[in-house]
Amino acid sequence: MDNQKIKYKIIVSPDISEELSAQIFRYWAFDISDFNYSLEDLTLTDEESEFPFIEVQTNSCVKMTLTHCKLCFNSILVTAYNRKEFMQYLQGYYDTCDVCKLYSPNYDETITLSKPLKTRLKQLNKNELRVLKGIVKLKSKALIYQHIFNNNVMDTNIWKIINSLQRKDLIWVERDDEGRIKFFHFKSELIDNLDS
Ligand SMILES: [Zn+2]
Repeated sequence: MDNQKIKYKIIVSPDISEELSAQIFRYWAFDISDFNYSLEDLTLTDEESEFPFIEVQTNSCVKMTLTHCKLCFNSILVTAYNRKEFMQYLQGYYDTCDVCKLYSPNYDETITLSKPLKTRLKQLNKNELRVLKGIVKLKSKALIYQHIFNNNVMDTNIWKIINSLQRKDLIWVERDDEGRIKFFHFKSELIDNLDS
């Protein structure tokens, strides 16, 4: 299932009854920002018996793909076993992958990322600011290749700037499974915070 922020997949135990499977679907059904059925709804729809929360939770889980780790920029795969965990993952309490948390010296640095956007922009050097403005204005991959990389996509100096902007959580380069660039994303707040 797809929505703006996450991809998720409901995993169900094999050989369960059709009724339980329907209850599992009702429990996990989610749209944009909230579950389709509130816990009260679920309790009410089952007039005969109580909604089997324990059974639903032990026979299902949800594999979620969160946008990306702040440090290595890979997608983060997590598993939620109940709605509380699901919402915590969704609300971004989980923005660094477990591997980077363990091994990356940059992990402590990410804590300083919570500085206000304006402060972080002031700390950029001239070329970082130039490239950032370019990404926000040009948007398309083709234009960014032309006018920022000047058609030399292997230019390591430009990549150093791009990586630094990624680490500062201002942009995010989306790649496919083979590592090819799909899109240059930027924080939407930047539109109002960058003078042209
Ligand atoms: Zn990571």
